[in-house]
Amino acid sequence: MKNRSQTTPCIIALLLSLTAAPVFSAESPSDAEVSLKKLKDGNMRYLSGVSNVPRVDVERRELTATRGQHPIATVLGCSDARVPPEIVFDQKFGNLFVIRVAGNVTGSSEIASAEYGVHYLGAPLVVVLGHSACGAVKAAVDKTPLDGKLPRLVQLITPAVDAAKKAHPGLAGAELMEAAVEENVRHQIRELTTKSDVLKKALASKKLMVVGAVRDLKSGRVRFLP
Ligand SMILES: [Zn+2]
Repeated sequence: MKNRSQTTPCIIALLLSLTAAPVFSAESPSDAEVSLKKLKDGNMRYLSGVSNVPRVDVERRELTATRGQHPIATVLGCSDARVPPEIVFDQKFGNLFVIRVAGNVTGSSEIASAEYGVHYLGAPLVVVLGHSACGAVKAAVDKTPLDGKLPRLVQLITPAVDAAKKAHPGLAGAELMEAAVEENVRHQIRELTTKSDVLKKALASKKLMVVGAVRDLKSGRVRFLP
């Protein structure tokens, strides 16, 4: 893991740093597999209630401030207040490059952010993280009338819901929601990996792994999709 650009979380600095040379820090898929294992182990710690990540870590804060961010993974997750990735995966400050948006959808800003995490920060793994009882997915399932810009966001989930209904014509209620949440994760992965030339290139050169996962709100368990 070397030659990663040093950036600050400030969006202006982030944009300025886009002029820096891009880096692919991962040298083989094994880097992604190492990251994936760290996330799985972290979720197990979270489930056991025994975290090894201090909430206040001055040394870590100062280290990341001076040496930049070196995330082990980019996580595209839902904005839902109950699914904070650093806590769910029991990860240190600076370990995850997190993109959060209702319904973990892939609009152009989310795709660009994922490209930044992979191409400029060298994160070898992208996780699209859905969760049970997602309100955004439920709005798409129920075709709920919504105000403001929300219909445009839900439109990005509708193809996944239609696919889930087609694949499971007998399902309704909680079972349909479960299928729709999972299909939405798969759909957003397809969107990410087909609309982004940057991610396509990283995948083709075996420098990136993209995986889907669903977190159960009640148990806290993250189930990685096959
Ligand atoms: Zn949600």
